Amino acid sequence: MSSASLVKSFKLTSSSSSSPFSPATSRKPSPCSVSARLTTSPASRSPPPNLIQNKPVVSVPALTRKEEMGKEYEEAIASLQKLLSEKAELKAEAASKVEQITAQLQTVDGSSTKTYDAVERLKSGFIHFKKEKYDTNPALFNELATGQWPKFMLFACSDSRVCPSHVLDIQPGEAFVVRTVANLVPPFDKTRYSGTGAAVEYAVLHLKVQYIVVIGHSACGGIKGLLSIPEDGKTSTDFIEDWVSIASPAAKKVKADHGADAPFAELCAHCEKEAVNVSIGNLLSYPFVRDGLLKKTLAIKGGYYDFVKGGFELWDVDFSFSPSLSVKEVATVLQWKL
Ligand SMILES: [Zn+2]
Repeated sequence: MSSASLVKSFKLTSSSSSSPFSPATSRKPSPCSVSARLTTSPASRSPPPNLIQNKPVVSVPALTRKEEMGKEYEEAIASLQKLLSEKAELKAEAASKVEQITAQLQTVDGSSTKTYDAVERLKSGFIHFKKEKYDTNPALFNELATGQWPKFMLFACSDSRVCPSHVLDIQPGEAFVVRTVANLVPPFDKTRYSGTGAAVEYAVLHLKVQYIVVIGHSACGGIKGLLSIPEDGKTSTDFIEDWVSIASPAAKKVKADHGADAPFAELCAHCEKEAVNVSIGNLLSYPFVRDGLLKKTLAIKGGYYDFVKGGFELWDVDFSFSPSLSVKEVATVLQWKL
């Protein structure tokens, strides 16, 4: 059975009156061996750390600009004017050269010679957020000051172009977000992937999110990296190739389906989506995730954001496996090795 057969296409723009995020599992809840249970309730939650300071941001002086390019510009103009006065016939050519150099220096002066003021950027960004969102939504932020009850857990790529808060208009408090290279979810592994495991455990057992959505995207560097790993498996990075290899089953599948010699960009595009399915499969290796699926308190979706074309896809996953299956058996069904 291929992983594709487990996936049903789903249209985000469905006009159905039911929510597009209806639970994905179709089997009746049945006894499960999972023993993990919620240990806190909303009422007993301790207040979260106060990360938003309701006071003016610290005023920081702007960094000094470099002036070297100004001097260079003046020297270039002076030498050309000297040439112009010595040889009248070169007047037109010199005037053209002056214009060219001026344009070049202005371009450089307008970008790379300015020191990027990171502090100012962050400061102005926060001021904008506070003025436009924080101060205009006191009810929301007063509620969030007492706790968080996100409905979603989102896995998105660390890529700077695919922030889910922007792409999906996610508001503060709506989603517990994990961003990893290539938006990968590793399998349950306490020693290698405890960071991701802690996030999934916290989201499912403590925050009780209702939906986990894994969102892939176009032109993903992590997927390119995965498909660039040589056949002999030789790696040249400390972490990157080992991490993206989590989606090796996706790479193998798209090469088998489309031919290993298919255009690289085409393979990448297929793999970007198939890797989402691998991550969804890996989520099944977490006992508390399987428990939530079986009890229909949790649903998992696959998503794909194409920032080149400006599109977004969402698909549902039909987990038609027996609740009595072990994690290894589930992996076998999915043909993914744990
Ligand atoms: Zn990416």
